Amino acid sequence: MIAENIGPRARSLEAASLAARIKDEVKTEIEQMVKERGVRPCLAAVRVGEDPASAVYVRNKIRACEEVGIRSEHHALPESTSTAELLELIASLNLRDDVDGILVQLPLPSGIDETAIIEAMDPAKDVDGFHPVNAGKLAMGRPVFVPCTPAGIIELLDDAGVEIRGANACVVGRSQIVGRPMAQLLLQRDATVTICHSRTRDLAAVARTADLLVVAIGRAGLVGRDHIKPGATVIDVGMNKASDADQVRSLFGSEADKRLEVVAKRGYTLVGDVNPAEAAEVAGMLTPVPGGVGLLTVAMLMKNTLKAAKLRRKH
Ligand code: NDP
Repeated sequence: MIAENIGPRARSLEAASLAARIKDEVKTEIEQMVKERGVRPCLAAVRVGEDPASAVYVRNKIRACEEVGIRSEHHALPESTSTAELLELIASLNLRDDVDGILVQLPLPSGIDETAIIEAMDPAKDVDGFHPVNAGKLAMGRPVFVPCTPAGIIELLDDAGVEIRGANACVVGRSQIVGRPMAQLLLQRDATVTICHSRTRDLAAVARTADLLVVAIGRAGLVGRDHIKPGATVIDVGMNKASDADQVRSLFGSEADKRLEVVAKRGYTLVGDVNPAEAAEVAGMLTPVPGGVGLLTVAMLMKNTLKAAKLRRKH
């Protein structure tokens, strides 16, 4: 949905109402499933250690489950958990017929073999879409479970009426969680896709060719006016913390005072990978941070969990 102007030019692509709509649709289908079949989907969330950001993410996901009527379990394991112990838990969740989706909150503590954990998961319960079977199916153009953040971005683009077919799309970042699956989804929708990363030569020149620019690098405000083609749609996936007053001023321009109040209260303000003040002068549309892509990630997790329940239970 296109909301208020961010700056002189770019329009803000807010995601709140779309995220609410997606959750409402999931809720309606779940109510129907419960009524007709007596089945309520169940998501098992697994968290290891005491990382405060992971605790917040898992709490938000469990709250969303409550909103849409998904039963949830929270397995909070101590930092000292070994790979073998976590593999045992995954194996038991794989076997349980009442569990439809398994979510392992990343990153895991450094002592745990993250790849082994992801690969141990039943692909039919892999609602994050990180298992090689699901990544492979996506790469082959036969997606089943697609990682939630890029899947949400496609929903946002469609909702805003952004033409993907034939567009020159540039994805900055090649992680398994965002960049790579994003590029695959755009390719599947007939965009001409370029993938950039930390070794790309002259990032600004490449990014500036894009009608559709998706940035997922984890570098506060790195993408600025020089990276953006006039009128381009810019999707900012980044979630970084900024606390330095000069940095906040250079990123937020006329909005800086409001953001500095947030810093005074919380110690930081959330900032994406795109410089919003500069992007607003050049872009056609821009997702805000917060209030953009992040809201859709959880909504898509709910959608994937419902999908897992439907596929497993042949609804
Ligand atoms: P990763 O650290 O896994 O990947 C970062 C990618 O960016 C890598 O491919 C890296 O290249 C590339 N990169 C890093 N620096 C540069 C640079 N200077 N120029 C070009 N490319 C660069 O990050 P994630 O994909 O997991 O996350 C990216 C951002 O998105 C983070 O801020 C994260 O917090 C946020 N995020 C937000 C979500 C949401 O729901 N809103 C969900 C997931 C992530 P290389 O491969 O060469 O190292």
